[in-house]
Amino acid sequence: MTASLEFRKQLNESPVPAARRAEILADPGFGKYFSDHMVTVTWTPEQGWHDATLKPYGPLTIDPATAVLHYAQEIFEGLKAYRREDGSIWTFRPEANAARFQRSAHRMALPELPAEDFLTALDTLVSVDRDWVPAGGETSLYVRPFMFASEVFLGVRAAREVTFSVIASPAGAYFSKGVKPVSIWLSQEYTRAAVGGTGAAKCGGNYAGSLLAQQEASEHGCDQVVFLDAVEHRWVEELGGMNLYFVYDDGQIVTPELGTILEGITRHAVQVIASDMGHKVEERRISIDEWRDSAHSGRITEVFACGTAAVLTPVGSLRSPEGEVVMGDGGAGPVTMAIREKLLDIQYGRAEDGYGWMHKVC
Ligand SMILES: *Cc1c(COP(=O)(O)O)cnc(C)c1O
Repeated sequence: MTASLEFRKQLNESPVPAARRAEILADPGFGKYFSDHMVTVTWTPEQGWHDATLKPYGPLTIDPATAVLHYAQEIFEGLKAYRREDGSIWTFRPEANAARFQRSAHRMALPELPAEDFLTALDTLVSVDRDWVPAGGETSLYVRPFMFASEVFLGVRAAREVTFSVIASPAGAYFSKGVKPVSIWLSQEYTRAAVGGTGAAKCGGNYAGSLLAQQEASEHGCDQVVFLDAVEHRWVEELGGMNLYFVYDDGQIVTPELGTILEGITRHAVQVIASDMGHKVEERRISIDEWRDSAHSGRITEVFACGTAAVLTPVGSLRSPEGEVVMGDGGAGPVTMAIREKLLDIQYGRAEDGYGWMHKVC
């Protein structure tokens, strides 16, 4: 049993001035601005995890032969810190992110960071940079833990030096002008994951592979792309970075089963909340034909996507070269909105958290 990491704190002597920070927090957008500090921890086989440091946010110095730049041995996580009315700061199920980070690390032959150290890293950064957590509306501080092969070596094997880091970025409401359904493009040429591949790991490479399909979606006027399975091109998997849910006219809710998809923490929370609201929730395969036919006949009344960044997002339509199918009346459906509100109420502390999901940072 190794002792948990102690984080050395090296505070930023020239943080962003309060007036400028206030300007940023008034309109943060997403992923554009970063808080005053970051965390880094190094791993080597000899020393294990060491050199845990909280330091001023700034560039990493990367040798051109750093392994991650060539072979993409990299994983990441994403979660949010929320400010409550009383000023306290909370995160949502960070231990679930810690566990998933370990599963991703295992798949990418990276060392597993003990959950306790992952959680300490998050709390250390968020509490030092607590003034960067915006207040009001659906705003938050988006926290991005990541790990990469930092060894300088061009040989092909798992790296013998690895860096873990955490950065934080204030985020505005995903829907600044009210919840608006997204349109989805069906990718027929590209897939994102195959059995035995890396689809269930949260690694940067999965995203790199999805960008061309996302571009194709944009060219067809769609907001997001949906991927089918790699073998039969028939079973619905997920979007580039969000899981999918289908609401049926008898109240039943269906989500694609695990395997090649990413196991979303929001996906799981929706399962629990929807069950408690009285919905029968089923994990099973759903074919693209079932989606089209059932949306057309009205058997499927609502479809929504879910993930940390966008919470729950109604899907308004599905488009492909064969044409367009509209979900329900094309608007945000009542089941989607009810689950969305319940989840947000728990996250912002407006409803009692009966699940033990919220973690108080400071
Ligand atoms: C992160 C991610 C999700 C959503 O997961 P959450 O834990 O709910 O944020 C869904 N799909 C992919 C491919 C992802 O990378």
